Amino acid sequence: MSLEQSTIDLLRASPAPVGLNFINNKAVSAASGEVMPVISPIDGTQLTVLAASDAEDMNRAVAAARRSFETGCWSGMAPRERKRIMLKWADLIDRHALEIAVLGVRDNGTDIRMALKGEPQSAADTIRFYAEAIDKRNGEITPTRHDILSLIHREAVGVVGVIIPWNFPLMIGSWKLAPALAAGNSVVVKPSEEASLSILRVIELAAEAGIPPGVLNAVNGRGAIVGETLGLHMDVDVLGFTGSGGVGRRLLEYSARSNLKRVYLELGGKSPNLVFADAPNLKRAARETAASIFRNNGQVCAAASRLAVERSVYKDFMEAVRAEATAMRIGDPLSLAFTTGALANAAQLAKTRVAIARAAEQGATVYHGGNQLHAESGGFYHEPTILTDVATEMDVVQQEIFGPVLVARSFDTEEEAIAIANETVFGLSSVLWTRDLSKAHRVSNRIKSGVVHINCYSGADITAPLGGVRQSGNGSDRSLHALEKYENLKTKWIQL
Ligand code: NAD
Repeated sequence: MSLEQSTIDLLRASPAPVGLNFINNKAVSAASGEVMPVISPIDGTQLTVLAASDAEDMNRAVAAARRSFETGCWSGMAPRERKRIMLKWADLIDRHALEIAVLGVRDNGTDIRMALKGEPQSAADTIRFYAEAIDKRNGEITPTRHDILSLIHREAVGVVGVIIPWNFPLMIGSWKLAPALAAGNSVVVKPSEEASLSILRVIELAAEAGIPPGVLNAVNGRGAIVGETLGLHMDVDVLGFTGSGGVGRRLLEYSARSNLKRVYLELGGKSPNLVFADAPNLKRAARETAASIFRNNGQVCAAASRLAVERSVYKDFMEAVRAEATAMRIGDPLSLAFTTGALANAAQLAKTRVAIARAAEQGATVYHGGNQLHAESGGFYHEPTILTDVATEMDVVQQEIFGPVLVARSFDTEEEAIAIANETVFGLSSVLWTRDLSKAHRVSNRIKSGVVHINCYSGADITAPLGGVRQSGNGSDRSLHALEKYENLKTKWIQL
């Protein structure tokens, strides 16, 4: 889609809608009538308000989801029919893609080029992928004695709760919604209070496409209130979550305190990027290194925030990364003049500032950047920042910032590079650059992470799983395997 500034400007000038709940295919206010402000990261002003729901609203949504599941209006439908409706939904998202993307940028600050591709367009593709898969999935017959017929059925689990973060609500949301719905479940979504408007629009479009009432619901509000109610609910069978480790731990507790619901966690990371001197193309590696941490201001779960470069090329490589960072244009995310937008909220900006200050206190050197930008706009902008002279024990090496901050150092041996890769509690993603095939396999076998990129960063598509190991989470989004999270296996053992 070719982007015109005038079209974007027209869309941004329209009043932002109020973020209502969506229950039984109806947009409704919170039962209490309470609302909370939505702040624009572009200029810090109030954009609109969002329903500040409480337990009553969440209980209504879960009851609607349960009712729809038990009637079989969706769960009992032929998979081919579910596919037809989901494909229509994806087409509607495509048709409204720019409108949805602009709405999303207005409440989370991602630059419009990335938002369009990474949000509505990626959500539509994800929905198509699972819709296309679901009527091609057979059950199994197990190899038993001749007088027994042993069947394995895949069944929808029931009611799925989906809790999502603010960085890519549509991409991440659809990685959970699409397989859960394709498998026949009913769903309740708890969007992030920091970025809800685009996903609410997409959920409205699901109703327009023909998803029956009660099958896909959304409840807005504070995580500690409605998120907790969803997590503790006795009638929710599975929780799919992307967000911080702290909230992930709470969800496991909620499960233990309630009905032992399955909990799938996609948590944060502190992903390593290892550049060996024999990388096939150091210029490309430098370009992708900068993109891997500075695009969307580092608010990407798989951001490669820890760089380690073989000593013989360290100095030149760092200069090349600095040149890439310098070339980035940070500013209004809805202006095509800029390449990177705003941090999503004031708290993320503050977290970035504090992390840089703390790193300096602990002995790190600011090699590039380090400053807030465009403070006069009221928005949340920051320079891409590179810190050197860092060591394993520093907070800036161990803790996820989710901001535009890269820590960098050199290494001498393969062993040292592997030790650096594994020096944190996380294990979501990793990158390594070498033209030596054996070394690439040797090193990637020993890196503790769910994904290893070799001689590239990102680009992995919906066909391949994304999931963390260690404290980056469990279970995987994307790929056909994601369907298994939202299904039960039922054995039928039949005496003939
Ligand atoms: P967060 O954990 O603060 O919030 C995520 C969601 O949980 C929000 O919808 C929030 O309302 C809800 N929540 C908050 N408290 C809750 C509670 N007590 N009970 C239930 N729900 C609650 O995370 P965030 O700040 O929105 O997102 C940033 C974090 O997400 C980062 O740590 C980042 O690494 C992680 N993340 C991970 C991935 C991944 O795929 N692994 C992707 C994106 C973001």
